[in-house]
Amino acid sequence: MSTCKYCNSSNFGGGCPYSPSKYHEHNGDEKKCEFCDSSNYGGGCPYSHEKNHRHGTGGNKCRWCGSSNTGGGCSYSPTKIHER
Ligand SMILES: [Zn+2]
Ligand SMILES: [Zn+2]
Ligand SMILES: [Zn+2]
Repeated sequence: MSTCKYCNSSNFGGGCPYSPSKYHEHNGDEKKCEFCDSSNYGGGCPYSHEKNHRHGTGGNKCRWCGSSNTGGGCSYSPTKIHER
């Protein structure tokens, strides 16, 4: 099970004492959103700042949209650049 990188708890959502956004942010699993533990990509993340799900690193695909592209053109990344 993953844990919050700020407070080490296994919770998701609000109430993190150390996160700047007050939401727990997990590290790691490229199959799951770091903020809400969902496996979705795109909009509708209840806890992300950007309102888009962001997956963990390590999957050799974009953390914001799940595509294997690199460079610009990401529909969900705040910088429009696919991020690994
Ligand atoms: Zn936390
Ligand atoms: Zn999410
Ligand atoms: Zn992308």
